[in-house]
Amino acid sequence: MPLEIIPFILGPLNTNTYLAADRATGSAVLIDPAEGAGDAVREAGSRGWDLQAVWLTHAHFDHFSGVQEALDALGRPIPVGLYPLDLPLWRGKGGAARFGMEIDPGPEPGLLFTAGEELSLGESRLNVRLIPGHTSGHVVFYSPADRTVFCGDVIFAGSIGRPDRTEGDFDRLVEGIRRELLSLPDDTRLLPGHGPATTVGRERLDNPYLRQRAS
Ligand SMILES: [Zn+2]
Repeated sequence: MPLEIIPFILGPLNTNTYLAADRATGSAVLIDPAEGAGDAVREAGSRGWDLQAVWLTHAHFDHFSGVQEALDALGRPIPVGLYPLDLPLWRGKGGAARFGMEIDPGPEPGLLFTAGEELSLGESRLNVRLIPGHTSGHVVFYSPADRTVFCGDVIFAGSIGRPDRTEGDFDRLVEGIRRELLSLPDDTRLLPGHGPATTVGRERLDNPYLRQRAS
């Protein structure tokens, strides 16, 4: 049975927060909760889903500014996951000050992902793939059974993530997208951190940053 995925568009930067549940067991996870994520927690509750963790693709503030609100709505602590290379960025509040924002970051992530790790969500399995370049420790979560990737700010429909001012690297980002995403089947669904969903096949053809340059 596949995942059931509910997107929410939240916060001042219109972040896509995803609530994903394993249909077989009702085990659920909240990915990149922005401000307003309490609504996603209440949605999970109304469906009888068991929210087990928060997974962050990376530590820009607009992808975790709703963690504390989500935990408050839930009323109990659950693990917050992040790739360790993004912890310094998280401790700097994810660049919120640059946007003139004040955020409550919530508890420091204690579930530290490793590249290539397989995460369990009920009977579903998702792979952690490391794609640095937007931030140093940006990961995506790939469900082979659903042919779906929660890809954060690595890639968008027709664009790619702007390298972070202090730690981004455009060439590494493009290289990582080619290695970890364009290697997937064309009909793989890409669920980005901002804007509409797309597919590997569409981006392979149309994304101006990823077209093979004629030599
Ligand atoms: Zn970002």
